[in-house]
Amino acid sequence: MKNGRCPMCNSSEVYFNPEAEFRNSGGVLELDDTKNGMMIYPIPYVCRECGFVAMYVEELEEIRDLPKMKGWKRAGEGF
Ligand SMILES: [Zn+2]
Repeated sequence: MKNGRCPMCNSSEVYFNPEAEFRNSGGVLELDDTKNGMMIYPIPYVCRECGFVAMYVEELEEIRDLPKMKGWKRAGEGF
């Protein structure tokens, strides 16, 4: 998605907007990891062709230490 290609329909009509926020009725959608004191606000990538929406962390620096943080497991390993 981030490379400009939609994973659902393979279109290149993918747009993103760091200023736009995911919201629910209570406010901005956030990933709140209290054990590690981490708070992430994902930004939207939208495919204009099929309507698929993906979430991305804007600052990759914020998730750099994920392998060392409590509770985070690498997908596809150990199950
Ligand atoms: Zn698409």
